Amino acid sequence: MRAEELYLLDLGWLGGDCGWFLPGAAGGAATAADRNPPRKWVEIPVTAVVVRHPDGVVLFDAGVAPDANQTHDPGVVSAFPVVRFSEENRIEEQLGRIGLRPEDVRFIVISHLHFDHVGQLGPFLAHDIPIIVQKRELEAALYMLWQGKGGAYDFTDLERLRGARWAPIQDDRFELLEGVWLEKTGGHTAGHQVMHVQTAPGRWYTFTGDYLHIPDEYRLEAKGWLLGDAEEWHAYIRKLKVMERARQARLVLSHDPELWSKYPAAPNPLP
Ligand SMILES: [Zn+2]
Repeated sequence: MRAEELYLLDLGWLGGDCGWFLPGAAGGAATAADRNPPRKWVEIPVTAVVVRHPDGVVLFDAGVAPDANQTHDPGVVSAFPVVRFSEENRIEEQLGRIGLRPEDVRFIVISHLHFDHVGQLGPFLAHDIPIIVQKRELEAALYMLWQGKGGAYDFTDLERLRGARWAPIQDDRFELLEGVWLEKTGGHTAGHQVMHVQTAPGRWYTFTGDYLHIPDEYRLEAKGWLLGDAEEWHAYIRKLKVMERARQARLVLSHDPELWSKYPAAPNPLP
């Protein structure tokens, strides 16, 4: 039995410099021909995915803390401020649109532990739901935070998750439910993973997390300052293109600025 419906949750918007996403001149870097180019500011949606599967509901990622601008590391939230967030962007409200409560979620999968992917896990913590993350990611986040170099990993989020029902996995590929595959990519963060889903009618979707932030990264096969390990990142990009071609998969980029003109938000399912 495969996934019945997939939904995207609308969890607000962040802003950031284009250089985080695209390298070199594409990201606004100075060149010999243009030594003082204007910087470009980009606004990106914050999203999560719900997989409705006969064997249980899966939540992939959990957005940004609504009050992150006040509570998180000033360096991080000045680079990536929450620029739009209202009550309707709360995860309970978004789940409610498809008739779900936090306790109806059977598995939580986190692409990586940056602040805009774990910020709304709070409502789930009382319900003992496994939080599936790459073991390598948990190690990397704590290793960096312990040295005071967390970057987009934030203590405010992770302190709340101390002792949560973590389910760290070491497998590079893991079939969580029939047709729901997690795959480690690294590249952005050390333990970053994506989710592939085959729906009951046989259509494939790949939810890229932040392996890809915006579509030009895929087109140009390049990533800006948010590139973690270049060798890892480049080891996966052509494989992803082969998988897209072989399965006619649809790639859903969690922060695609044009996401909401391509796909509906909950309560409407993905086509
Ligand atoms: Zn992100």
